[in-house]
Amino acid sequence: MSEKFDVIVIGGGPGGYVSAIRAAQLGLKTACIDRTVNSDGKASPGGTCLNVGCIPSKALLDSSEKYDQAKNGLAVHGIGTADVTLDLETLLARKDRIVQELTGGVSMLLKANKIEFFNGHGTVHKDRSVKIRMADGEISTIQGEHLILASGSEPMPLPPVPFDGETIVDSTGALSFSGVPQRLGVIGAGVIGLELGSVWRRLGAEVVILEALDSFLAAADDHVSRDAQRQFKRQGLDIRLGAKVSAAKVNDGVCTVSYTSKGEEHTLDVDKLIVAIGRRPYTENLFDDDTGITLDQRGFINVDEQCRTGMNGVYAIGDSVRGPMLAHKASEEGVAVVERIAGKPGHIDFNTVPWVIYTHPEIAWVGKTEKELKNDGVAVKTGNFAFAATGRAKAMNETGGFV
Ligand code: FAD
Ligand code: AMP
Repeated sequence: MSEKFDVIVIGGGPGGYVSAIRAAQLGLKTACIDRTVNSDGKASPGGTCLNVGCIPSKALLDSSEKYDQAKNGLAVHGIGTADVTLDLETLLARKDRIVQELTGGVSMLLKANKIEFFNGHGTVHKDRSVKIRMADGEISTIQGEHLILASGSEPMPLPPVPFDGETIVDSTGALSFSGVPQRLGVIGAGVIGLELGSVWRRLGAEVVILEALDSFLAAADDHVSRDAQRQFKRQGLDIRLGAKVSAAKVNDGVCTVSYTSKGEEHTLDVDKLIVAIGRRPYTENLFDDDTGITLDQRGFINVDEQCRTGMNGVYAIGDSVRGPMLAHKASEEGVAVVERIAGKPGHIDFNTVPWVIYTHPEIAWVGKTEKELKNDGVAVKTGNFAFAATGRAKAMNETGGFV
């Protein structure tokens, strides 16, 4: 007989591991299954966020900002830094160490909360059993009263620009370039494209970002996106809007990107190209066809407002379902689902999910924008205070931006 659990969580990212811990805290017998292994072949829970997303990108943003400051931002304070050098290997190793410490921390938390962890790929059957193909090839089956699917997402490919893992890469590849590319192309001016473009620009690359839409950061307030665009330009990010990429060819290590803009054909030569056009849900071999769990047209698991799938007792959360693809959204959804399973009230107000873009200056907002409210016919009053007018910002020589 297979072992029985109150809750089985598939996926060990911010959605999955947080759900599992909350379930254990509420006294539920819990299992968590995650397929990720690191370069040493060891289990590495924490999902996209800890392994190849939020955390390593923030580590690189911080290191690159310090380098840029030391090189370009200290002279005004009267501090000479003629000999600032970059040791990329050390910079990347610091990032890898942070990832290792945090994923190790998740393993310890799972253990401390007496959660049974399985390092393998889980597939849901219609009797609510989960078959696990372990990383070492063994097969194991466990049975759950409630299942939470938190299988996350993966980079969206752009078919005419196939990844080659060397010159044309996704966000994961862009976290580990072995040298600073002289010319870097980024397809997509979304959060990931802007953050990774900023990292490599600060480390010395010439960066061109090609964005298909005519608008820039359309989800943000107009004033924010206008100001951000101006500041990024000043920082040296060459952002070309209305640039639809149609192809890319690599020859002798040089990538020639073809794009159309205002009806004209253009090409751009770069040494590395990051495709950052968004992410898509990852649900490969996650459930059998006869379970009642279904996907929508874009591949997201269909759920209701309480994250219930079409199968009784089975929930889905995080990047694999509708809503913003953000770590804190995944975690909050998981906590709400588990609390409902435990008979408590669990609720999420999707109007209050914060957004953050860790560029310089950082951009953050919560709730509706002025435009959205106006479209809804709501009367709005706006207030604006420029950092340039605050003494603290002047003292820091950080006068860009506003509240
Ligand atoms: P994931 O983190 O993707 O975790 C899912 C896990 O489940 C993975 O480990 C996967 O391997 C595993 N899995 C999938 N299927 C199975 C299966 N069948 N069996 C076993 N295991 C399985 N968000 C923020 O909020 N702030 C940020 O600053 C931020 N920065 C980002 C930077 C980058 C470069 C990227 C790529 C993403 C960033 N994100 C950020 C987004 C964030 O990483 C995701 O929103 C978050 O990881 C989603 O959590 P999740 O638990 O739904 O899925
Ligand atoms: P996000 O969804 O925030 O990760 O942002 C991805 C961005 O990539 C969006 O702004 C898209 O408009 C943009 N994008 C998608 N396809 C292309 C393409 N072929 N060429 C240029 N930009 C693209």
